[in-house]
Amino acid sequence: MNRPAGSLTTTVELINTGTELLLGRTLNTHQQWLCRQLSDHGYTVKRQVAVPDTGEDIHAAVREALTRADLVITTGGLGPTSDDVTRERVAELLGVTLGPHTTVERRLEAFYRLRNRRMPPRAALQTLVPEGATVLFNDHGTAPGLVMSVPAGRFRPNGSWLAMLPGPARELRPMFNTQLLPLIQQHCPPPTSLLCRTLRTTGLPESEVEARIAPHLEPLLRSGLELGYCARPGEVDIRLAAHGSEAAQQVEAAHKLVSDELGEFIFGEGAAELEEVVIGLLRDHRETLAVAESCTGGHLADRLTRVPGASEVFLGGWIPYSNALKHAALGVPAECLAAHGAVSEPVARSMAEGARRIAQASFALAITGIAGPGGGTPDKPVGTVFIALSQANSTVVLNPRNAWDRATFKAVTSQQALELLRRALLRKPNPASSP
Ligand code: ATP
Ligand code: MG
Repeated sequence: MNRPAGSLTTTVELINTGTELLLGRTLNTHQQWLCRQLSDHGYTVKRQVAVPDTGEDIHAAVREALTRADLVITTGGLGPTSDDVTRERVAELLGVTLGPHTTVERRLEAFYRLRNRRMPPRAALQTLVPEGATVLFNDHGTAPGLVMSVPAGRFRPNGSWLAMLPGPARELRPMFNTQLLPLIQQHCPPPTSLLCRTLRTTGLPESEVEARIAPHLEPLLRSGLELGYCARPGEVDIRLAAHGSEAAQQVEAAHKLVSDELGEFIFGEGAAELEEVVIGLLRDHRETLAVAESCTGGHLADRLTRVPGASEVFLGGWIPYSNALKHAALGVPAECLAAHGAVSEPVARSMAEGARRIAQASFALAITGIAGPGGGTPDKPVGTVFIALSQANSTVVLNPRNAWDRATFKAVTSQQALELLRRALLRKPNPASSP
């Protein structure tokens, strides 16, 4: 594809197809995810639209986007059901025929064979590929992605690229990363090299992150560094980006300044999740973990078990919601519960010590609190939470006030628990690095 002469950007437009997106039944996560990936690689998404599954809407949206953009990406509608019409409508729009693709046929048959399932007759529709299209093989589903070069003069003087990706995120994301992105970078490289680094922080609100780092970055910002923040419950990402030949030095210098200011508040880079970092540290230190969660209801264990290989270090846990179970499962003394109440420092401490002892883990985290909206008292208002970390010879207890809705309460509280453990692991000498 030829970028227009003198153009400084590669313009990208995104078309998300799916009536369910417009009915509010499915959150359009592809919009966020693809825009993030593309911008991190130097591509400018100029416009994004969601359209229903109807052929006319898809036809009109693709046609319109091809008159403007260097690269148009569609998502969804490549499957075998009657509402999956993207492939047909695009072929019709570009005036090309659809024909069976033997490798796609073979892979589709293998997909069903492997799962011991009969291939439904309609599935064969997915083996049809528009003439001239490049196939993106689907390693996680059935519908292949497709990439087509739209000739110059057809919709705009310089031509465009059109990429079609399948709807399910588990199929779209790896296909984008391993197949589409390299193809885009080859045929449609960003005009200036962009270097982008994301530093992930936890423990400080967004405003404080900014107050601490922005003044130090002023000179770099004046010479072209881009600085952005993205806050989510319990974490703030800092995005550092720069273009051109100085990009590496600028980003490196900014990274150093931010690290000097924020130190251990930075838990990782790129897409690293806090639970991945914690599992990695536990593995490096050859330690094990058990959890006892009351008000987070298993959210902490869920996060830990999202990490591949968690079983090497995560032994398991309890969700002792009732006082009776806190006593029966973890040995929290009935007198302790009666004297202090379930949401208290001594009970959190006792839960963590019980979990560590029974699981024979080197660390245990315990959480007890009042998620709300009911259940608060003047002494213990909604959001009161105790997070205990027990290890050999010591137990520490945090007492933050997480007065949020229940989902945010779980996200923030589990984040604080993981961070408490991460900080404890950082202070331990690493056996791998000792002589
Ligand atoms: P399939 O073979 O599963 O039918 P497809 O390519 O035809 O795949 P769709 O039928 O459009 O894709 O969507 C399949 C599923 O993918 C949807 O039910 C939805 O769960 C998910 N999905 C589609 N588009 C989006 C989106 N923009 N954001 C998040 N999820 C989406
Ligand atoms: Mg479908």
